[in-house]
Amino acid sequence: MKSLCWIRRDLRLHDHAALSAALAYGETRIVFVFDSHILDKLKNKEDRRITFIYQSLVEIEEALQKKGSSLHVLYGKPEEEIPKLAASLKINKVFVNRDYEPYAKERDERVGKKLKSLDVEFESFKDQVIFEKHQVVKDDRSIYKVFTPYKNKWLETFETQDKNIPDYQGPLKNLAVFKNPESILTHDFYPVIGFKETLPELTGGTKAALKRLKNFAEIMNDYKEARDYPAIPGTSLLSVYIRFGNLSIRDMLRSSLTSRSEGAKTWLSELIWREFYFMILDSHPHIVKESFKRDYDKIKWLGKPEHFKAWCEGATGVPIIDAAMRCFNATGMMHNRLRMIVASYLIKILLVNWREGEAYFAEKLLDFDLSANNGGWQWSSSSGCDAQPYFRIFNPYTQSEKFDAKGEFIKQWCPELAHLSGKQLHRPVDVIPIVSYEKNRERFLQMYAVIKS
Ligand code: FAD
Repeated sequence: MKSLCWIRRDLRLHDHAALSAALAYGETRIVFVFDSHILDKLKNKEDRRITFIYQSLVEIEEALQKKGSSLHVLYGKPEEEIPKLAASLKINKVFVNRDYEPYAKERDERVGKKLKSLDVEFESFKDQVIFEKHQVVKDDRSIYKVFTPYKNKWLETFETQDKNIPDYQGPLKNLAVFKNPESILTHDFYPVIGFKETLPELTGGTKAALKRLKNFAEIMNDYKEARDYPAIPGTSLLSVYIRFGNLSIRDMLRSSLTSRSEGAKTWLSELIWREFYFMILDSHPHIVKESFKRDYDKIKWLGKPEHFKAWCEGATGVPIIDAAMRCFNATGMMHNRLRMIVASYLIKILLVNWREGEAYFAEKLLDFDLSANNGGWQWSSSSGCDAQPYFRIFNPYTQSEKFDAKGEFIKQWCPELAHLSGKQLHRPVDVIPIVSYEKNRERFLQMYAVIKS
């Protein structure tokens, strides 16, 4: 029997549910499609994520070549490319890992139907998460909307499975032996897909991912205390690797269980937040276009386009905001604490619709993930399922004093402030911010009053 494993956001060869099933089924080929529906929408043709994916694919290609095999890399519409390839190779069955985003669900439905019409089977597997939406539910089978009870049930479910974490490895000897000299990976890759090579801050691929996981394991016990300070390496920086599947969520879970420290438990909790947001997106796809709590769509936003522009450019006159946004523009990366501070500032002080911030992050974040990004923005705007209460407004100055006390992060990205120290650094008297924090805080509360009424 001949199988085709179609990889998407699972760019690795180890611990891979669909690949191990494909290998067990028969002679296996692996394919990746640069989806023109997605790429056409990316305005920036120097997008770092494309190079990150390219690096990940090159690593896979090299590993496959060592086994006498190769990777099919295509560019186009998956609903055309996958059936065409399956037909030309006389494939009996296509294997994929499940994806929970609305576009991906629709895409798979279309591809599945087309394959069926060609008499090719199509099967999807759970791989991206430990538990899918129906596996962690309330006793009455309904979906959780609050994180803490969800997390408790998640942990309880994991315990009842004896903490069993599967490791999906397949017989690699079943990889199809062939050469692929015409692969677009080796011939003028970037022009074919219409992008330019732009090196990301973190190199794509499983080797880099597993090395980072190993290094993080050495500091994981301190995570609870260290995770909030942008100037120190206190978090794993694995989000982009799990986003593109260079490592599996089971790799991360196994690592979190190697210690019983509070740090390890807190880190596990973050992995569960990731699953919580996947589950929310899967069960409430309306959040892509609307607020989770629909009443919040009644708000009339008072923010000005020039204030949004200043926020994007790191020119608000608030040091911690400007430093975070400049770092973001330069690297595509942002520390979680800073994501919360800049999001709160955009929404609750600049009074700009959170959708604008969400879209700006989506365009630039190296680790952009629809569910976590939407979850983070809806949490910050208070419109989300288990969000920050609307009257909780981060004060960027006190946040800055608390989480970048010595101003190391600010000085790195706002060198014009490097001569300042103490409170002056966090709120310099001779830098006039584009809006008054105190006045706009009040305006925000009036703007949000529509929710209460
Ligand atoms: P660690 O602290 O080491 O955490 C380990 C892993 O847990 C992360 O790699 C990530 O996969 C997951 N995780 C951690 N925090 C969260 C969270 N709050 N929600 C969901 N998963 C989490 N994360 C993304 O992966 N993609 C996004 O597009 C994204 N957008 C965000 C937007 C906003 C406004 C906010 C407030 C948060 C967003 N996050 C997003 C969550 C979080 O900021 C990042 O996951 C984290 O900063 C990644 O760094 P790390 O890998 O060092 O995380």
